[in-house]
Amino acid sequence: MNEIKVFAPATVSNVACGFDVMGFALHGVGDEITVKRTPEQGLQVVAIHGAENLPMEADKNVATIAAQAFLDSLDEKPTSGFSFEITKKVKAGSGLGSSGSSSVASVVAMNELFGKPYSKEELLLFAMAGEAAISGQPHADNVAPCLLGGFVLVRDYHPLDVIQLDYPDSLYCTVVHPQIEIKTSDSRKMLKQQISLRKAITQWGNVGGLVSGLAKGDYELISRSLKDVVAEPVRSMLIPLFHEAKQGAIDLGALGASISGSGPSIFALSSSKEIAESIGNHFTSLYKEASIDALIYVSQVNPKGAEVIS
Ligand code: ADP
Repeated sequence: MNEIKVFAPATVSNVACGFDVMGFALHGVGDEITVKRTPEQGLQVVAIHGAENLPMEADKNVATIAAQAFLDSLDEKPTSGFSFEITKKVKAGSGLGSSGSSSVASVVAMNELFGKPYSKEELLLFAMAGEAAISGQPHADNVAPCLLGGFVLVRDYHPLDVIQLDYPDSLYCTVVHPQIEIKTSDSRKMLKQQISLRKAITQWGNVGGLVSGLAKGDYELISRSLKDVVAEPVRSMLIPLFHEAKQGAIDLGALGASISGSGPSIFALSSSKEIAESIGNHFTSLYKEASIDALIYVSQVNPKGAEVIS
């Protein structure tokens, strides 16, 4: 095989109380990467469509950084080089795991070209190398749901312990992505390094409640648990109309709403497509009235994660 095209979905991470440990995959939006073998050795980003100002250098783009981590793990060195053509449907700095989608699409493509030496779980470490390169930390809360699909809990990193959670089929997500960029690194600087014991107790009570509510399909419990007392109070300051967007979603029947990743995207969860779509309409008119460009997505949780297109 000399050429492969892979889709890797955008992801909502943190999911309110699950700061840095939870995420889920979306349908239809994400990155497509075509990787081709080339006679010249080395890795080369040949084109990036759909986003400006992303690095073309192989040692700066997460797609090629993750691919290099994959290659470094192999006993035999490759006999060809590889070119990467990246089509982005989510801009960087979206809070929808844009960098994670590129890392994952790239390692899934490399794995296919090499005859699938690794399972999806094993590929996670290479995708995490892409995240580590841009944030200094090998976070998995975007790349794990992007690669594996579904709703994921990253229980631990030493060793990596990723758990796929059960969730109700009728769970819907509405996302608004106001077209401003917030770098994860900037948003992270806003967070205090310490939190009070009282806040920690509230947060881990809600994480337990959310996991249990998802497993039982108990929408009341999901709703009570979709609260974030750690990151949302400070990070929401960077997001235009955050409180209006969230309150409007809840008034329309959302189970809860919060920041996706480090923002500026906001997500709301609901128990039906109808509610999810009415929240989408609310987000559309709210940002239109304020003359802020915004993209809206309505999606169930994507159970498959990254997949080969052709
Ligand atoms: P997101 O949460 O949307 O991934 P981040 O701020 O975490 O946003 O990551 C974006 C950073 O990663 C930017 O600095 C961007 O230049 C860098 N980057 C490198 N390669 C890519 C890529 N292929 N796709 C997206 N971002 C990339």
